[in-house]
Amino acid sequence: MNAKAKRTITSVLPVSERRRGECVNCGRCCKLPNVCPFLEYNPDGSSCCMIYSIRPLNCRKYPRAESEFLTADTCGFRFE
Ligand code: SF4
Ligand code: SF4
Repeated sequence: MNAKAKRTITSVLPVSERRRGECVNCGRCCKLPNVCPFLEYNPDGSSCCMIYSIRPLNCRKYPRAESEFLTADTCGFRFE
């Protein structure tokens, strides 16, 4: 099973209690593995989602668990 399919299936599970931080709108998780057609950028370079209010669960919860965390170098979240 690829990572995106796995994240979609596990998105019904709770977010890890070990997660800290917040989204800094780097947009990296919207390119896993391909650039999402709903990804846009603000004039300041931060990312935004064209369908933010109805975005899928796997987007809402990313990074849900450390085992599914693929963007640690730019993401504002971390796991302790
Ligand atoms: S990788 Fe992290 S900081 Fe970047 S957009 Fe996704 S959740 Fe936000
Ligand atoms: S739907 Fe929105 S939050 Fe989800 S990957 Fe696409 S741009 Fe990112």
